[in-house]
Amino acid sequence: MANKPDRTKISLTDEASITLLRRVVRDLVRPYTGRLILAGLCMVLVAAATAASAWLMDPMVNKIFVEKDLSVLWLVAGAVVATFFVKSVAAYVQEVLVGYVGQRVVADTQARLYRHLINLDLGLFQDRHSGTLISHFTFDINAMRNAVANALVGLGRDTLSVIFLVAVMFYQDWLLACITFVVAPLSAYPIRQLGKRMRRVSAETQEEMGAMTSLLTQGFQGIRMIKSFGLEENETGRIQGLVERLFQLNYRGVRVKAAPQPIIDFLGGVAVAAVIAYGGARVIEGHTSPGAFFSFIAATLMAYQPLRALGKITTHIQEGLAAAQRVFALIDQAPQIKDAPGAGPLPRAAGAVKFDAVQFSYGAPAEADDETGEVGIAPDAALNNVSFEAPAGKVTALVGPSGAGKSTVLSMIPRFYDPAGGCVMVNGLDIRTVTLESVRKALAIVSQDVVLFDDTVINNIRFGRLDASDEEVRAAARAAAADDFITALPNGYETVIGEQGTRLSGGQRQRLAIARAILKDAPILLLDEATSALDTESERQIQDALKILMKGRTTIVIAHRLSTIQHADVIHVFDGGRVVESGSHDELIGKAGLYAHLHALQFGSGEPARRDRSV
Ligand code: ATP
Repeated sequence: MANKPDRTKISLTDEASITLLRRVVRDLVRPYTGRLILAGLCMVLVAAATAASAWLMDPMVNKIFVEKDLSVLWLVAGAVVATFFVKSVAAYVQEVLVGYVGQRVVADTQARLYRHLINLDLGLFQDRHSGTLISHFTFDINAMRNAVANALVGLGRDTLSVIFLVAVMFYQDWLLACITFVVAPLSAYPIRQLGKRMRRVSAETQEEMGAMTSLLTQGFQGIRMIKSFGLEENETGRIQGLVERLFQLNYRGVRVKAAPQPIIDFLGGVAVAAVIAYGGARVIEGHTSPGAFFSFIAATLMAYQPLRALGKITTHIQEGLAAAQRVFALIDQAPQIKDAPGAGPLPRAAGAVKFDAVQFSYGAPAEADDETGEVGIAPDAALNNVSFEAPAGKVTALVGPSGAGKSTVLSMIPRFYDPAGGCVMVNGLDIRTVTLESVRKALAIVSQDVVLFDDTVINNIRFGRLDASDEEVRAAARAAAADDFITALPNGYETVIGEQGTRLSGGQRQRLAIARAILKDAPILLLDEATSALDTESERQIQDALKILMKGRTTIVIAHRLSTIQHADVIHVFDGGRVVESGSHDELIGKAGLYAHLHALQFGSGEPARRDRSV
C-alpha cells in the first residue's frame, strides 16, 4: 500500500503558504519574467479593450439610436472592430505566453524532482511506494501548473478587466454601481466554504491516485505470481474497490466544483434585475441617458465572466499550493549518503575490502550516546560488530542462514547504507572519506534479481560502461557466454527485451548481467549468487562466465549453495548479524560449527542436525 501523503491544509492567509507562494514564484516563475512582462502588457490591452467595448455602448445608443446621427455610425462601427481586434490579438499572445510558462513549470519541476529523487538515499525508496512518487510527477505537478496559469491570468487579466469595467460603471452611474456591489459580498461566504471542501477532496483524491498507481504497478509487475496463484479475481476486486473510492471522490469533487457557478449565476441575475429596475426608472425619469444605462449594463455583464474566474482562482491556488508543498517536501529532503567535504577519488588499486566493527540497523539511524559518544546497537540490528577482510584479488564467500545479514553487508560496500558504527574500508581508506562516485566505479554488482530495462540488448549491456563501443559490448557478451543466444534473437543485439527482460530466460538474464559487469571492468566484484537452480547446461555456462569475470578481481560472493564456494579463498559465516566463523572450507568443516551443520543439511551427510536452519 502506498504511503499516505500528509493531508495538506493550506490557507492563503497562512504565513507558511505565503512563504510557499514566494518560493513557487522565485523557483519556478521568475526565470520567465521577460515573457510574463509581455503577457502582462497583453493583459492590460485585453482589459482596456473590454472596458472600451462596454463604454462604446454609450455613443452607440445615444448617437445612433436616439439622435440617429449618421456621421458617427461608421466611426462607432470602426471603433468596435478595432477594439475587438486588439482584444483578440492580445488575448491570443497572452494565452500562448502564459501557457508556455505553465508548461515550463511542469517540465522544470519534473526534471528537477527526478534529478533530486534519483540522488536520494536508497532508504527513501523503500519507505515509499513508487506509485506515490509517480503521482507527484503527474497529479501534483499538473496542479501546480494549473495554479500558476490560473493565478497569472486571474491576477493579471481578470483583475484588470474587473477594475476597468467597474471604472466604466462608476463613470456612467456611480449610484447604480454602489447598489450593484451590495450584492457581490453575499456570494463570498458560500464560495469560501466550497473552496475548503474542495481542498479536502483534492488531498484525498491524490492519496487514492497514488494507491491506485501502486496497485497497478504491482499487479502488472507481479502478473506471473497473480496468475500462478489464481489471484486474478482478488486483484481485480482490490482495483475495483479503489476505482469505486476514486469515483466517489471525483464525484464529490464534481458536486463541490459545480456549486459555485449556479450561486454566482443566480446572484448575478439578481444584480442585473436590480440594475434594470432602478436604472430603467432613472432613464424614464430623465436622470440619465439610455446610452449611459446600456453602457452600464454592458460593463456589468462583461465584469461577470472575469469575476467568475476570480471566484475559482483561490481554489486553484489552494490546490496548487498543497501540491507544491508535497513536491517541495521531497525536493527539500537532503541525501544523508553523500561526499564528505573535500573528499577525493578512491585510488584505483587492487581493491581489498575490510569491515571494521560495523554496526547497522535499518530504520532510524542509531543515536550516539551523549556521554560516551558510542553508538548504541539497536536490539534488531542487522549487523552487529561485523569485522572481516576480503583480500585483494581473492574470492571471499559469505554464508549463513536466511536473514543473517549477508545482503546487508553487500549493500554497505557501494554505500547504499552507511554504518551507524565502525567503518567499511576499500584499499585501506574509509569509503566515507572518498567520493561516492569513485567507490561505485570500483564495484561491479551481479545480483540474483537482474535489473534490465525495456531497451535493446546492446544498450542493456552498455549500462556497464556508457562509453563502450559496440565491439567492446560484443566482446563482453562473448566472455559472458551470452553471444550465442543474443545472435539467435530476432534482431540480435538490437532486440528489445521487454519490461524487466520478460522475453528472456532466467539464465539469459544472468548472463547479460555478467556481461555488463565484465564491461564495467571494476576491481571489486559483488556477487549475490542466484538461489534458483538453473538447468545443468545454463548453470555450467554461468559458472564459466563467472570464472572469467572473477579472474584478477576481489570477489565477495553471497553463496546460497555451498557447492559453489568450496574453493573460495576464505569463507565468513554469518548468523544473527554477526560473523561467527571464518576460514577455508576444510577448516570450517573441521570446526564442526554452523558451517559444517549447514553443509551437512545441504549435502545430507548424516551429521545430526544441530539447528533447524536453512541457508
Ligand atoms: P537472505 O539469505 O535470506 O537473503 P541475508 O543474510 O542476506 O538473508 P539480510 O537481507 O542482510 O539477510 O537481512 C538481515 C536483516 O535485516 C533481516 O532481519 C531482515 O529482515 C532485515 N532487513 C533486510 N533488508 C531490510 C530493509 N530494507 N528494511 C528493514 N529491514 C531489512
